[in-house]
Amino acid sequence: MPELGDKLDIYCRYCRKNLNGVVSALQDGKIAKVRCRTCGHFQVYKPQKDMKKAKQRAMKRLMNSYNKKHVTEENQEKDLALNQDAAIWQLWDQETETANIRNTKVYDIHRTYKVNDFISDKALGLGKVMEINDNLMKVLFRDGIEDIEHARPKDDD
Ligand SMILES: [Zn+2]
Repeated sequence: MPELGDKLDIYCRYCRKNLNGVVSALQDGKIAKVRCRTCGHFQVYKPQKDMKKAKQRAMKRLMNSYNKKHVTEENQEKDLALNQDAAIWQLWDQETETANIRNTKVYDIHRTYKVNDFISDKALGLGKVMEINDNLMKVLFRDGIEDIEHARPKDDD
């Protein structure tokens, strides 16, 4: 029987990744809620996803679009976009391999981050800071690289 505080494997909907979690709520002896040990977000328990299968599906989609007989310009553009998506996902997966609760910070526009920091954003998921130019940083998320602001003085609100 699971107990509060038990460690378990979860799929984190915020990090969008298979990670380690902790049981944070039980209902009728079953795990109701967990807390992600990478980003710290509480959420409904979801077992780990077969990421290999998800990736295979993405690759299959890619191949299918390549195999279409009539390649229109529009399709070519779609292929390119799919290809980039797969490459970004691969890169993100590698780059966030070492993210954990001790080195991942919840994103806050007023905080100051540095290159290689892991950040967790409710909408964008788990990301890694790749580049910083003053108060703008380039962050690698699963869906691509985003420019986001940081170190905004609190008075400017
Ligand atoms: Zn998480």
